Amino acid sequence: MEVFQGKSIFKGVAIGPLLYYGKKETTVRREKIEDTEAEVARYKEAREKSVAQLRQLHDDSVKKVGEENAAIFDVHAMLMEDEDFCEAIENAIRTQNVNAEYAVAVAGENFSKMFAEMEDEYFKARSADMKDISERLIRVLTGEDEMHSFEEPSIIIADDLMPSETVQLDKEKVLAFVTRLGSSNSHTAILARTMNIPALIDIPIREDWNGKLAAVDGHTGTFYLDPDEETLHEMEEKRDRDLEARRLLQELKGKKNISLDGKEINLYANIGGLKDVAAVLSNDGGGVGLFRSEFLYIGRDSLPTEEEQFQAYKAVVETMAGKRVIIRTLDIGADKKADYLELEKEDNPALGYRAIRICLTRPDIFKTQLRAIFRASAFGKVAIMYPMITSVEELDKIHTIVAEVKKELTADKIPFKDDVEEGVMIETPAAALISDDLARKVDFFSIGTNDLTQYTLAMDRQNSRLDVFYNPHHKAILRLIRMTIENGHKGGAWVGICGELGADTTLTETFLRMGVDELSVSPSMILPVRDAIRKSHAYPEKE
Ligand code: PEP
Ligand code: MG
Repeated sequence: MEVFQGKSIFKGVAIGPLLYYGKKETTVRREKIEDTEAEVARYKEAREKSVAQLRQLHDDSVKKVGEENAAIFDVHAMLMEDEDFCEAIENAIRTQNVNAEYAVAVAGENFSKMFAEMEDEYFKARSADMKDISERLIRVLTGEDEMHSFEEPSIIIADDLMPSETVQLDKEKVLAFVTRLGSSNSHTAILARTMNIPALIDIPIREDWNGKLAAVDGHTGTFYLDPDEETLHEMEEKRDRDLEARRLLQELKGKKNISLDGKEINLYANIGGLKDVAAVLSNDGGGVGLFRSEFLYIGRDSLPTEEEQFQAYKAVVETMAGKRVIIRTLDIGADKKADYLELEKEDNPALGYRAIRICLTRPDIFKTQLRAIFRASAFGKVAIMYPMITSVEELDKIHTIVAEVKKELTADKIPFKDDVEEGVMIETPAAALISDDLARKVDFFSIGTNDLTQYTLAMDRQNSRLDVFYNPHHKAILRLIRMTIENGHKGGAWVGICGELGADTTLTETFLRMGVDELSVSPSMILPVRDAIRKSHAYPEKE
């Protein structure tokens, strides 16, 4: 037996034969072409065929992974027809007298490099898509069949998997994905999660493993090649426990988030936009505890208009049908960038000009967003919260602006609810330490443990080198959380947690005992957290 340690992309256990999913090496050779116009026509025909394939792939994928995830193939079709990309190919054929395959390979390589070098994460991710589409075009040009088919359910091993390859595999026959390359936030990883298939990356897979037996432990990120009897037995048991646990979680749908001793809390979900709402509802989320509105501002060329924002908020609020939706105002800056804001480069962006600091110095941006949120409030149960607060003065300024916005909406005869709850995120040590003062001025607190941890421990949350030092259970963080909950309650505010720590089921009982009123977690963690709540005690034992 050989044991390899990789990184888990999706939890779960799989045991089965390995199937090496090798790229069919298409070595593209440069050839001299006499009739360049005929070659351009051949390229155009291949492009049309590729676009048709992608449209078909999109329609087939909708059934497997849902519209949001299938949308990637529409993006591919769009990139395939991108004017600059097409021009680069046609130009190379005409001016260099080269074959279409070669022109596509070179243009694909150049575009992929160009995207990889961009700072914006969205464009960076397009680099892999450019490779994917140029390989498809080349396959169509060379007339190769792209599908690997297999009968026996298998663990797929590959150097890397393209999104299009991942989704085309027969879900019923794929036990797990194991790759050498890839990143946790790639589209392939997202698709693996959506398809509910255990997946590992960073495993040095080899072609000659093809056909061997293996076990994948997605909980620990471990890969066992040729597992011995004992490991095999252990993994089979773990797999069965896993399946049983998943089945039991489904039974928790419709049940209350209530502790063994009767404390009921709200269990909400964190979302980035309307696309995540289906997962909230299918996992039985009681509301949205954090709508990261900045995603409406990212990956575009200009600020979203009031109307665009209103439509986006309204769609979420209406779909949540009366359940509470907490919209966090713009939290841009640091890792979340929007070039059109032309923010200066800073030495310490996490400690810099971000979130509410931008909103308070750019009231035009802030007011537009507030108007959109208040307008959406007429369609359901909206709450607003403000990120990165450090002082009471900031909150007072916000309240003045909010009052102006309400006055203007009233003057414009635009309907909105007057009792929209307002809260602040407690994600700086300063806010936690003055939470007694803040509590008197808001309806609720939502503790952002991601930033609270980074600022309290002085550890950049983006820096993976600090993983060894990073202790999210640090006593200092737990003390700040306890203090915030106590101060919140004394001042009449309810208190939730929306950072990642809220989903840490080893702390659920601790949070309940501290008196937390709400936990907001990613949709897939709703049922595991509900399970933990129902197994916890919230109150001290009576004598
Ligand atoms: C947090 O800081 O804990 C939080 C929820 O906000 P974000 O992760 O978006 O910074
Ligand atoms: Mg934060």
